[in-house]
Amino acid sequence: MTPRIEGRVLRRGDYRYENLRREACWHAGVPDRYPELIVLANNEDDVVGAVELARREGLQIAVRSGGHSWSASHLRDGTVLIDLSNLRHVTVDRDAMTGTAQPGIKGSELSSMLAGQGLFFPTGHCSGVSLGGYLLQGGFAWAGRDYGPACMSVTGIDAVTAAGEQVHADETENPDLFWAARGAGPGFFAVVTRFYVKLYPRMRVTMNSSYFWPASAAYEVYRFVHEIGRRTPTEINLLCSRDPMTDGEPLIALNATAFTDTEEEAREQLSVYESCPARAQALTTRLNEVTDTGTLSRFGTDPHYDETKRYLADNMWTHASFDDLWPNFEEMLKTWPPAPSHLVLFNWGGHEGQPPRPSMAYSVEDELYYALYSAWTDPADDKKYTRWVTDHMRAWEPYASGIQLADENLINRPYRFVTDENLRRLDDLRAAWDPDGMFVSWLGRPAGCSTGAEGTAL
Ligand SMILES: Cc1cc2nc3c(=O)[nH]c(=O)nc-3n(C[C@H](O)[C@H](O)[C@H](O)COP(=O)(O)OP(=O)(O)OC[C@H]3O[C@@H](n4cnc5c(N)ncnc54)[C@H](O)[C@@H]3O)c2cc1C
Repeated sequence: MTPRIEGRVLRRGDYRYENLRREACWHAGVPDRYPELIVLANNEDDVVGAVELARREGLQIAVRSGGHSWSASHLRDGTVLIDLSNLRHVTVDRDAMTGTAQPGIKGSELSSMLAGQGLFFPTGHCSGVSLGGYLLQGGFAWAGRDYGPACMSVTGIDAVTAAGEQVHADETENPDLFWAARGAGPGFFAVVTRFYVKLYPRMRVTMNSSYFWPASAAYEVYRFVHEIGRRTPTEINLLCSRDPMTDGEPLIALNATAFTDTEEEAREQLSVYESCPARAQALTTRLNEVTDTGTLSRFGTDPHYDETKRYLADNMWTHASFDDLWPNFEEMLKTWPPAPSHLVLFNWGGHEGQPPRPSMAYSVEDELYYALYSAWTDPADDKKYTRWVTDHMRAWEPYASGIQLADENLINRPYRFVTDENLRRLDDLRAAWDPDGMFVSWLGRPAGCSTGAEGTAL
């Protein structure tokens, strides 16, 4: 009997199939990978039905929540794509400071719901990202230095396994599945239908200072950020991209944000940026503005993500001195791709007050996080800009301690994203929970770890 599924089921070639396949990837660079079937799940039973359908048709399973994977790791040949974008239910228990959220809800939507109640959850820096992929791969959040990767605030999951069973997993029930759900990202081997999360009181003040410099100040600014990044309690987002302010040449924008209880404390924290050796060269500044994360996303980060463009992302964790990174960066400045291509640098690890990490698959972090994104329009430029990002990140490999799955480019540049020990444990758990290999895995794996790599590089 055909499994009962309430939501739409579209087979390759059906009317609307191609629209849905394209919509499943947030940017215009939709890869030539074609699921055999797309199931738009309406509820958890539909997910069970989709898993049964995959078995019946001899297909693998790929999962999409918000479709914000840069590499579209959810678009795979020979699969049933289970689309969870309609699973969006959220509950909040204010007294217990806990909640539940389904994977299709966007972080920015959750954040707005919570803000009205004076609550906070560490959601990502951009508006479109859904909780499903974001929480499974870690979750690099606003104020994330104070809360750790967002998956640390996940206390449990409901999931549908490769056997089509609905299970709960937390520290005591199915703890190994729960361990994997906090960091396996696109290599997770079940479908999460609900996250159980901790909520926090919202900090009273969010204050931001911005400084804008021409590329001629880059060396001094980056060197300064490397020096103070670890010790400042403020969150740094240092961004380089072509901008009208510099007549289309690369512009360096330093956005520093303080999350505090009082404005006085925030101003004090942000005063450190006035000591930047390049201060006098700043073209313009906006100092000590009281704001909120929604506004920072809308006006600060979102404009760099244009869904009409084709994108490639790559990244690294590092604690290198900027002098080591400068020669490659100097080369990049000479050939910077068109806007909104950009490089971001965040300060992250090693600061006072960083919460201790529990045992979880997520296991590679460092003091600083660099992510490089190229954006272009013409498919004829795919190779050119893929190489630009991949080769420049490869040049930094001697100084990298790993990558984050958030901005992975595993198909072109496989690199360490969890510790070797955790990768082995993930492989063992996959074999136990998904013995028939129903779920697709990461698009690439670090050298020396050859099991299960999938995908074709450009
Ligand atoms: C514009 C933009 C801004 C971003 N900003 C941030 C940021 O600030 N911080 C950050 O940490 N990341 C950020 N990211 C990266 C983003 O968090 C990851 O790409 C994440 O995987 C996206 O989640 P999604 O559900 O939208 O993606 P999807 O593409 O739907 O999912 C990605 C992968 O996760 C797995 N997956 C998704 N949902 C489920 C589920 N319910 N069950 C099982 N597996 C599932 C699948 O394997 C899938 O291939 C950003 C990405 C973009 C494009």
